[in-house]
Amino acid sequence: MKKVLNKHAGILPLEIKKLNGYENENFLVTTATNKIVFKTYLFSKEIYIQNKAESEALEFLNQNQQEQIPKPISFLDGSYVKVIMLHGVNKVCRILSYIEGEFWGENIALPAFFTSLGVFLANMDKRLISFENGDIKSKVHEWDIQHLNLNRKYLADINDHHKRSVAHYFFNQFDDKVVPAASSLRKSVIHNDANEWNVLFDKNKVSGVIDFGDISYSFLINEVATAMVYACYDKQNGLENAIPVLKGYHSVFPINEVELGLLYYLMAAKLCISVCKAANSKKTNPKNKYAQVSEKYAWNMLFYLLSISPTEAENKFRKATEHKTFTPPTIKEGVLTRNKHISNALSLSYKDPVYMESAAFQYMYDVNGNSFLDAYNNIPHVGHCHPKVVRAGQKQMAKLNTNTRYMYDLLPQYAEKLLSKFPKKLNRVFFVNSGSAASDLAIRMAKKHTGQKNIMVMQHGYHGNTQLGIEISDYKFSNKTGPGQHKDIFRVEIPDTYRGRYKKTEDKPGVSYAKDIVEQLKNIKDKVGTFICEPIIGCGGQIPLPEGYLKIVYEAIRTQGGVCISDEVQTGFGRLGDWFWGYEMQEVVPDMVILGKPMGNGHPIGAVVCSESIANSFSNGLEFFSSFGGNPVSCAIGLAVLEVIEDENLQQRAKETGAYYKTLFLNLQEKYNCIGDVRGAGLFLGIEMVSPNGEADANLAQHIKNELRARFILISTDGPFDNVIKTKPPLIFNKKDAFKVVEEFERSINSFSRL
Ligand code: PMP
Repeated sequence: MKKVLNKHAGILPLEIKKLNGYENENFLVTTATNKIVFKTYLFSKEIYIQNKAESEALEFLNQNQQEQIPKPISFLDGSYVKVIMLHGVNKVCRILSYIEGEFWGENIALPAFFTSLGVFLANMDKRLISFENGDIKSKVHEWDIQHLNLNRKYLADINDHHKRSVAHYFFNQFDDKVVPAASSLRKSVIHNDANEWNVLFDKNKVSGVIDFGDISYSFLINEVATAMVYACYDKQNGLENAIPVLKGYHSVFPINEVELGLLYYLMAAKLCISVCKAANSKKTNPKNKYAQVSEKYAWNMLFYLLSISPTEAENKFRKATEHKTFTPPTIKEGVLTRNKHISNALSLSYKDPVYMESAAFQYMYDVNGNSFLDAYNNIPHVGHCHPKVVRAGQKQMAKLNTNTRYMYDLLPQYAEKLLSKFPKKLNRVFFVNSGSAASDLAIRMAKKHTGQKNIMVMQHGYHGNTQLGIEISDYKFSNKTGPGQHKDIFRVEIPDTYRGRYKKTEDKPGVSYAKDIVEQLKNIKDKVGTFICEPIIGCGGQIPLPEGYLKIVYEAIRTQGGVCISDEVQTGFGRLGDWFWGYEMQEVVPDMVILGKPMGNGHPIGAVVCSESIANSFSNGLEFFSSFGGNPVSCAIGLAVLEVIEDENLQQRAKETGAYYKTLFLNLQEKYNCIGDVRGAGLFLGIEMVSPNGEADANLAQHIKNELRARFILISTDGPFDNVIKTKPPLIFNKKDAFKVVEEFERSINSFSRL
């Protein structure tokens, strides 16, 4: 190399040292008088052109030496870029001046440094506005945020499926938010890579910037987004270091509102590029650790961005740049507008209702920019706005949406996939649009099959809002204002082993409760044709059926010629951790199963699953038709939900997180007598709050619910006395989330005063 440098550049190296490089080889060359950087790249025409363009930009910036930026040094023939044979291989070579200084990455930077970074980049970009270069303009590369989608193919290389979904989510956000606004964003040539190893540090100020390898003609704001990401991605203080970068930049080169509105998504996009490239590099070149160093930080930052609301981030950016922050509509106004057309029969949660704007995975964001940890909603089973589910629906909606009177592949495909989750005996499915429609249909079918009209239902049970749904839901018909019990309904006592007649401290309380039913069945006049029950009785206060209960009850019903329905609307799809369906917990197989809520992750799908013989009894000439049930969009969404549950191993996750979550509550119970009972399985838990004399304490439960709301955690209450805290979060809820809920739960208990 010494000879080469001497021959082509007239340089006499005393020492040559290899430097770090991402895709090329760089050398620090010391001569008698100075130091230079010799850069070599494997030859390609493209690389050659890029290097020439980069040299032009460096020359341009060095014209009046305002910033410390590497200066191109020419070879003896006057060229700045030259193809030279090195060790038998053609290389594109360049020489740059060496800038002395320490790297930002080697130092502890204080806020003033981040401001100076913003100022430095803004000054440089302001000058680059008048720099034109056709080759830079036409360069399309993966590290340029505007071309995020070039990295989409690497999503498949991210092994952890949940992480992949988070990146996928931000890709989708980019498509939905940034792409449509692209034409209104200012573009210019930017450095595009102000990271901690490209920025020089001197006395807590930026003294220079190197490595223009990622130079791009891109959105101007991408310069800031990139620097902001690197300012905070390896720290534990959120956006704190990013704000002075933005402030500094804006003070020199003002940023407009459109740019500010997209900054959150552009930062996320840069991080997505980073994690995608790292995943790909791990796969294709596992030995190159250079690409993977920053991966962990990038993931942390992406998860951090998810945990704050985009509105909160934008407001922070607006504040920093002295733009007015958003004034959200007030709750009072919102309630008034809602009440103009919506009946009071539809209640709002909390004393202080939440005005929602958007959501992602286990977070919900309100109009004020608050981010709520969702420990309550079981419908967004695989996570709010899960990108795979969202895209499945969007794509199918844009392709075909019709009804089951036409043939399309998605119906049998989804039916097959769904039924593969059931025992062979349950091999027919009827698709509808809600849990209510499913329970209504199931009861009609059961009646048809058995010819019996009597239905056995559970005390405090709830199955739906149709006429029939209310008739079979003690929670509704026995309500003070409810219609009362229908003559065909036989209601059995809830097998509560905490508050009920047989306690969990006794031997086999489930068997005792069941045997009582067997006795009662002997004495009733008309046979019971149908028995419907949930494996964990939600409205009853999250009461799991005690061990051994259903085996005895199902047998008694079947002996009478009746059929047994398991309402899996709340318990199904892996939420219980150990079991995909709640009936498995009781080691029984029902004759019919009803499904809803999580099935479409928020898209309205419900279903009745049953045996062929029950389905046959229903095909008696009277056609069954549901306009929307089983439509292609619903099937695409339902399929996507099942795939995500499998891909992200969510049943196992529910089991592990749920066990940890429950243990935290059990530990809390040891400390606080006001926690009477902790029950449930997986991510379906109930915590029963009691007063010192053991009575149901609805006031405390309400206090905790509202307190947690004020602490940005969503949770709710249930049970006949409304004293049971229920928590059924999306299954991507993690141990850290669980810890946070229980920590705040304890604080809420401590802030309660019994007057
Ligand atoms: N069954 C159970 C156990 C439920 O919890 C619900 C809804 N809370 C339903 C049926 C009715 O479902 P939907 O609201 O979708 O009609």
